[in-house]
Amino acid sequence: MSEVTVMTTLAKARAACLIGWPAAHSRSPLIHHYWLRTLGIEGGYSIEAIPPEGFAEFVLHLSGHGFVGANVTLPHKERALALSVPDARARAVGAANTLWYEDGELRSTNTDIEGFIDNLDACAPGWDDAEEALVLGAGGASRAVVFGLIERGIARVHLANRTDERARRLADQFGARVHPAAWENIGELLPRAGLLVNTTPLGMHGQPALDLDVDRLPSHAVVADLVYVPLETPLLLAAKARGLKTADGLGMLLYQAVRGFELWFGHRPQVTSELRALVEADLTRT
Ligand code: NAP
Repeated sequence: MSEVTVMTTLAKARAACLIGWPAAHSRSPLIHHYWLRTLGIEGGYSIEAIPPEGFAEFVLHLSGHGFVGANVTLPHKERALALSVPDARARAVGAANTLWYEDGELRSTNTDIEGFIDNLDACAPGWDDAEEALVLGAGGASRAVVFGLIERGIARVHLANRTDERARRLADQFGARVHPAAWENIGELLPRAGLLVNTTPLGMHGQPALDLDVDRLPSHAVVADLVYVPLETPLLLAAKARGLKTADGLGMLLYQAVRGFELWFGHRPQVTSELRALVEADLTRT
């Protein structure tokens, strides 16, 4: 291939990136490169380490930097929302994790919502028969989870957080179907929870396990954990041992990546068992 041909090919190839600071080890390149490869799309996905003071310049000139869009991670998600035209999901969560251009405008959304819901649909079809859900934690991920549950029609969402005030504020934002609960009262809510979701880091490597008795959940309950290191948290292991359906954090991570890829590269990719195995292997290596 001549130099001119290479340059023309590169100029045509679309590229997206993950913007973070520090640029932590991320599985996003692995996921997007897998889809580019298996769909035969010429494109790229890189990690861009951008400090907070450089973020606005970088994002406001994203196409000038060679990108058709981006994922955004800590600590930039709130700034990304402010610097773009957010959809209802990004506004509700108060943070954007996916950016793309549409009609010449930089748009943003939050794909954690569909990542969480699509993973539940894949792992535990019928999960939305639950009338009551219990969500643990009231941070950024919890907002995405609660938004998704309300949108899907769950009648009552109990929200328990270590810091009561934060659960109350989130419940106020989402309206009458969300009920703040004291962290000490989790045990009493378990028998009514058709869906239990852990959005805290409890159970992650280096963190204590969630101290909770899954035997108190109803026999039809579904248990979801957002933590994916380890893949099988003590909560998920206990739920499986009781025969309950589960949805893990890796599944959510994979499903949340689908929309960005579709927006940037024009094809809706599949979350396959091969992709999952690839990312699982990477997680167990590091
Ligand atoms: P965040 O905004 O910092 O919120 C953390 C939440 O966990 C807060 O409600 C906090 O309670 C609670 N918490 C932290 N340590 C706790 C402890 N020792 N005991 C009880 N509660 C504790 O974080 P986030 O962005 O929501 O992320 C939360 C978790 O979800 C992380 O593990 C993250 O990796 C995971 N996540 C996974 C995915 C995925 O795709 N699988 C996506 C997003 C996030 P206070 O309010 O009292 O501090």
